[in-house]
Amino acid sequence: MLVRKTVRIPVHYETTKSKLDRLGRLTARLTYCISLINGLVSPETSLDRKTLRRLVKDNNIARKTGLSSGYVDQCIDRVLWAWRSYEDRHGEWRYRYDRALEELQNAGDDGREKLEKRVKRLQENEPSTPVFLHKVSCRLDFRTGRIERGENSFLLWMHVSTLEKGETMDVPLNPSYYHLKQLEGAMISDFEIIRKNGKYYAHISTTRFVDTRITSSYGGIDQGLNRTLAIVLLDEVPREELLYDEKRNMLDKYDDIIASLQSAMASARHVEPRKLVEYHKMSRKLKQLRGKRNNVSVYHDWLLANKAAEYTDGYDIAIGNTKFRQTQYRGNGMPSLRKRIGKWSYGRQRIFIAHKRAERGLTTMLVDERNTSNTCRCGSRLVARKYHDGASWLLCHSCGSKLDAGLNAAYNIALRCRDDRLKVRMNAAENRASA
Ligand SMILES: [Zn+2]
Repeated sequence: MLVRKTVRIPVHYETTKSKLDRLGRLTARLTYCISLINGLVSPETSLDRKTLRRLVKDNNIARKTGLSSGYVDQCIDRVLWAWRSYEDRHGEWRYRYDRALEELQNAGDDGREKLEKRVKRLQENEPSTPVFLHKVSCRLDFRTGRIERGENSFLLWMHVSTLEKGETMDVPLNPSYYHLKQLEGAMISDFEIIRKNGKYYAHISTTRFVDTRITSSYGGIDQGLNRTLAIVLLDEVPREELLYDEKRNMLDKYDDIIASLQSAMASARHVEPRKLVEYHKMSRKLKQLRGKRNNVSVYHDWLLANKAAEYTDGYDIAIGNTKFRQTQYRGNGMPSLRKRIGKWSYGRQRIFIAHKRAERGLTTMLVDERNTSNTCRCGSRLVARKYHDGASWLLCHSCGSKLDAGLNAAYNIALRCRDDRLKVRMNAAENRASA
């Protein structure tokens, strides 16, 4: 199976100023080109390369931007990508909006108010068409540049075409040992030049082929509240493990500072204008803090994913897939629960786990999570949920057991994983028999 990964390597600090200036001009011109092309696209435009290339040609974009056709093509791809993902988001939104409208039309008096609120909220949240107000990058491939290994003091170079026709330049990168390890034996498909906090980085997309391992053991993962993972492996005696994000306190600390800053800002907003400067200072600080918090959070999600991949090595694993997060909205009377859920991105954690497992040649599947949390191991659904000591318990009225709700759900997910895989194998065997 193919494992894709982006490796982010800073441009070397010894890069000359003139090269950095040229890099600055190039990335600014690309941003300009992308926003010009974006201006030619509307929701009615058919989203394919041919149409956009014609629009670009008719509007003299290449002459206006002075970019080579390779660069212009890559800008087209960037705009296409943005509009396609907008279409996806909008299509999903439209589906939900239409359904909400339909429900509202058929609603009786008691459900009406709630549905009206939902329709209004959806109206406010209609996805907007792509805009490029800030610096934006596009993927650069062999047409305009490549990443090369060096032999002397600089180990890695970014080779790119410049704005001057036929001229290229070589920018040294500053990879760490870890970066080089990531690039070893991987194919480089393309890269982006990204500017962050005044520094340039090459974001290199790599593809690596990993042999898929066939396993015949199964397991399940349930993502719980409070950033825990409940894992059950179906051995002769099922093995269970709860993985915690150990550094959660650090995130809580960030959350506390952010919350107090937010409330300070809320009160500053309503006082005299001379406090405005202070307000803007706070809002800058807030942005910084959020960025830092996000970095910490992503880092710990990787750590947790790594632990999960290690624990589940050699097993076929399913993760419960849920729309639970999307159904939590403001005003449903569960503010504290929503807050706890909001702190952890379930989707991101799932992707990280699948990724870490893929690096080991293991596939991960998503299964429908419905009823996995309210069915006891004995098969009964006559259960009650109890919260106690920060954990959630399942009390079964049929068999009388008291189970950790997360582990119980993971167990049910593991069963689903096994049943699914066995079904697939049986079907394959039947097909072979009938062929
Ligand atoms: Zn039971």
